[in-house]
Amino acid sequence: MKKRIIFLNGIILFLTLSLFLIISVFILNYYNNKSSERELNNHVLLISELYNGENAEEVINSYQKANKNLRITFISFDGEVVKDSLIDIEFESHLDRPEILNLGEVYTRYSESLNTYMMYLAHKDNGLYIRVAMPQKSINAIVNSFLLFCFLTLIALTIITTLVLNSVNKKALKPLNKVVNKLSKLAGHDSYYGDDVETISSHIDDINLLINEKINAIIDEKSKVDFIINNLEQGVIVVNSNKELILVNDYVLRLKNFKLVEVLNKNFIYLIRDISFQEAIACTIDEGSISSFDLPYKSKLYLINITPVNTEWTNFENAKNGAFITMSDVTEERKIEKMKREFFANASHELKSPLTTIIGYQQMISEGIITSMDEILDASKRTSKEAIRMHQMILGMLDLSKLESKEETSFEEVNLKDAVIDVLDLYQKELSEKNITVSLNLEDLYLLMNPNHLNQLVRNLIENAIKYNIPNGELKLSISNQKKELIIQDSGIGIASEDQSRIFERFYRVDKGRSKDKGGTGLGLSIVKHICNLYHDNINLTSKPNKGTTVKIQFNNFLLK
Ligand code: ADP
Repeated sequence: MKKRIIFLNGIILFLTLSLFLIISVFILNYYNNKSSERELNNHVLLISELYNGENAEEVINSYQKANKNLRITFISFDGEVVKDSLIDIEFESHLDRPEILNLGEVYTRYSESLNTYMMYLAHKDNGLYIRVAMPQKSINAIVNSFLLFCFLTLIALTIITTLVLNSVNKKALKPLNKVVNKLSKLAGHDSYYGDDVETISSHIDDINLLINEKINAIIDEKSKVDFIINNLEQGVIVVNSNKELILVNDYVLRLKNFKLVEVLNKNFIYLIRDISFQEAIACTIDEGSISSFDLPYKSKLYLINITPVNTEWTNFENAKNGAFITMSDVTEERKIEKMKREFFANASHELKSPLTTIIGYQQMISEGIITSMDEILDASKRTSKEAIRMHQMILGMLDLSKLESKEETSFEEVNLKDAVIDVLDLYQKELSEKNITVSLNLEDLYLLMNPNHLNQLVRNLIENAIKYNIPNGELKLSISNQKKELIIQDSGIGIASEDQSRIFERFYRVDKGRSKDKGGTGLGLSIVKHICNLYHDNINLTSKPNKGTTVKIQFNNFLLK
């Protein structure tokens, strides 16, 4: 490009100078001719003055002393050359010469006798034609030297303008190169210097492509990060050191029912209304402290973690800290923690009383407080009853922990009817002791289930229906294949409505004494509920004190047979 500019510049210069030269030559020629004409005219007039009809030679001699280039010819009216100042030969008739034919007019033509171009002018005087001529050589010499001058000027001007252009070009491109260099580095290129606009512009195109690629990559990265941040099951908030919200993810916006534009760059108190929460954030920003606490919000519990952040984008006017806040829903976690605490408290309490009984009786025997065989036998019976209860309680707790841990279990095709009949067989003794009338209406109902789970479920329910039944009471068991349900109905003591919602809790017993007496652990219904949850079966209990209790289970894990 630079070479092209210089070449173009040379051509323009050459054409300009050539035009100037041509016009100048024309002008010079014109004025030179005019002056030569005037000169010739003056010479003719002067020679006419000097010539008296006889002194041609004398006139020529004296004239030639002053101007050797001037040719003076005296021609008679019949065309014969009487005297010529430059050539002394015989000439043919000169009457046909244009300057003779048109007296007083200057003619330039080639002179055969002098081998050069001459300017001619003739006058008539004292019976002769006086013709004066001078060579045009002098004009050509001027033109030639002018041409040489122009050519040298052209070369000099080309060199000077090239140098000037070069330096102007460099100066003009310097700020542009500076910017392009910066962009070049930004796009990951080495430093760059372009010496003409065309290469710089093509380099800018390259940079543009690279920067576009980088911008697209950044946009992609941002979309990824946005996607991740906004799909977190956790709230994320970033507050800068000027206490403005600079990042709020969708989780928080959904929770607070805000749109991003409504809170972004606003003071964090617009989003966070809780005073202790606000104070904790302010404390992190001002002092860099870390806080972690549970915050109740809309019937849920959120774990709030606030840590200081010290980055370029969180710090306003070189302040120290921004705050990075996370919010996690810990409602379930806290509930489970509470349940665990309660469970351990209950379990240790429940285990403590049979153990105390056992230890007490054993001490009485070992310390000789009871000595008679009957008393010892009675103590031993009571001890073993408590030990069995403890054993059942531990088995129940193990069953519950297995069910809660949802450990892998194998499913089999089991017939509910068979399971019910098997359990009833186990309780024949208790049934006859209480003289309970059992009525059965059992259809086959095939379930896909772990046989142990089915046995636990049926056993706990039938056991309760017998345990809490009255003497001579009734127990109705029915299985409907069509409705996919099991109904266990007893005519026992029933459960008060205020207790009905709690009987599925672990260790919950309506009447502790009665339950203990009957060897109850308070875990049976809890195990039943867990099994139903595991198989997504629906359990429903209706009861009226002193009337009886009905438990209905609708199975969803049935097999169509
Ligand atoms: P337990 O080992 O004490 O029977 P469960 O979890 O099986 O523990 O039952 C919890 C409590 O619910 C029992 O203590 C009892 O008070 C009550 N209950 C359960 N089933 C019946 C029923 N069929 N009739 C009356 N009360 C019942």
